[in-house]
Amino acid sequence: MADRDGSIWYDGKMVPWRDATTHVLSHSLHYGLAVFEGVRAYATARGPAIFRLREHTQRLINSGKIYHMNLPYSLDELMQAQIDVVKANKLESCYMRPIAFYGSEKMGISTRGATVHVAVAAWPWGAYLGEEGLEKGIRVKTSSYQRHHVNVTMPRAKVSSTYANSILANLEATQDGYDEALLLDVQGFVAEGAGENLFVIKDGKIYEPEIASALTGITRDSVIRVAREFGLEVQSRRLTRDDIYIADEAFFTGTAAEVTPIRELDNRVIGAGKRGPITEKIQARFFEIVNGRAPEYDDWLTYV
Ligand code: PMP
Repeated sequence: MADRDGSIWYDGKMVPWRDATTHVLSHSLHYGLAVFEGVRAYATARGPAIFRLREHTQRLINSGKIYHMNLPYSLDELMQAQIDVVKANKLESCYMRPIAFYGSEKMGISTRGATVHVAVAAWPWGAYLGEEGLEKGIRVKTSSYQRHHVNVTMPRAKVSSTYANSILANLEATQDGYDEALLLDVQGFVAEGAGENLFVIKDGKIYEPEIASALTGITRDSVIRVAREFGLEVQSRRLTRDDIYIADEAFFTGTAAEVTPIRELDNRVIGAGKRGPITEKIQARFFEIVNGRAPEYDDWLTYV
């Protein structure tokens, strides 16, 4: 990733990709506190458009606030930085990674006295769980690792340290031949995927797990709105893993994962074992919206 052409916005300047480096004694590298976002820009008939840029940027600032990390740029400046990165790299569609992290002024756990740096990189990135996964659905395994208790890490923040837990879960599942991991909370109720929120469909109704030990996903929020458009109100409730075994359909949502059907959980086939009809309808609408083919959702798109 480090050796490629292009530009990265780094502390207010556009710098060549290869020069966007940081010191090995950076505080964030040692103690795992960096806040970040995953954002996508999609190709539309009017050029690239960033999906829900304001909401992602606000979540980045909120993640910082939760961890006492004040980002040295305003919401507007951070939004502009992301627009500039798409432009500077002449990308038609891309994944974007804004990240705020502490510099190398000091060691020791306290972040007091450490400078906050901010960078935004962007690169083309296709379907996170594979094109085939989007169409046919993926195989998921319930992890032996649990999602953090709400008083262990702060679930409303998208913070790098959370992802050590996600990495353990994802590696365990993929080493066993599955595509992704599902994590339960410490009480054993369904929380979320390693990098995705979850929805299930049963008897024509859509459910999501209560969003306690899970990130409040922006794709999730978009899907809830789309479902409402189809006359389906998403119900939030405590879900157990066997609620999913006996569901008619299930799918993951995320900026990287988009809307990915789940065809199996723990070797139990879900529904017909393929992308279900409601999932397909929501997924198709999602792609229409992000690709600028749904004018009523234009306020979700920032044209570059
Ligand atoms: N949960 C986790 C742990 C994630 O990493 C992500 C991806 N950011 C999500 C849920 C989905 O969030 P969003 O739709 O905002 O990308």
